[in-house]
Amino acid sequence: MTPTTAARLWALDAPRMNIDAAHLVVGAEGTVSIPLPAFLIEHEQGLVLFDTGMSPLVCEDPALVFGDRPETAMIESNPEQRIDTQLGRLGYRPEDITHVVLSHTHSDHAGGLYLFPQAKFYIGPEEFRWARGTTNQTDHLFNPADLNDEVKEFDWHEVGPQGLDLFGDGAINVLHTPGHTPGELSSLVRLPSQNIVLTGDTVHLREGMEWDEVDPSDWDYDEARRSIAALKNLQETERAKVWISHDPRDWEDFGGPLKALE
Ligand SMILES: [Zn+2]
Repeated sequence: MTPTTAARLWALDAPRMNIDAAHLVVGAEGTVSIPLPAFLIEHEQGLVLFDTGMSPLVCEDPALVFGDRPETAMIESNPEQRIDTQLGRLGYRPEDITHVVLSHTHSDHAGGLYLFPQAKFYIGPEEFRWARGTTNQTDHLFNPADLNDEVKEFDWHEVGPQGLDLFGDGAINVLHTPGHTPGELSSLVRLPSQNIVLTGDTVHLREGMEWDEVDPSDWDYDEARRSIAALKNLQETERAKVWISHDPRDWEDFGGPLKALE
């Protein structure tokens, strides 16, 4: 069967964080200003979000979420970047979202989940159980409010290690790419004129791909390297372009926020 395609894909505008590149890829240097985006995919059977970015409160004022922690000074944001406002710019309301694929449970991806109670949610194997039992070392990457009791009661579906063809037509393939976290998910999105892989935090910067190098905060370094190899494989087998969510050069090359890709 020839796969059908999704209609289009956008990256939504989002806050940025100024961060030491060595915190994202072992051996990288300098400070980078990384976008923290969510992606919207239009498909004839639904309107899909890949990730939900940071809590909308961060767009109002980072201190509302991070208080006196260092992140408050590291984040640049404005209220226009709220995910609900961004959807509005494309003519959609939060209640129009039918499916949400969550790459993983960290606060720069899970902050907007609560806005979409009507949607079906997809999460990777073991991710929920792991997120509840994390160690002090990575605690700062979570915002407990993102996964509050109400959000936990949403319509969650755990994607198995074999991945999931979201609509059964080959257009949006959710892939298990563990390493950063146990349940890390990427998605291969087939569009009319190109295939794009949304990577979540499977890899953080281009240097990670070039050097097969991990993020020091990754959960399992061997798994992370295997998943980077899987992304490279998709570049070959699917002629897919890899969009590293947090790499500002990818953001630029794909046209930045609210640019429709078809
Ligand atoms: Zn992230």
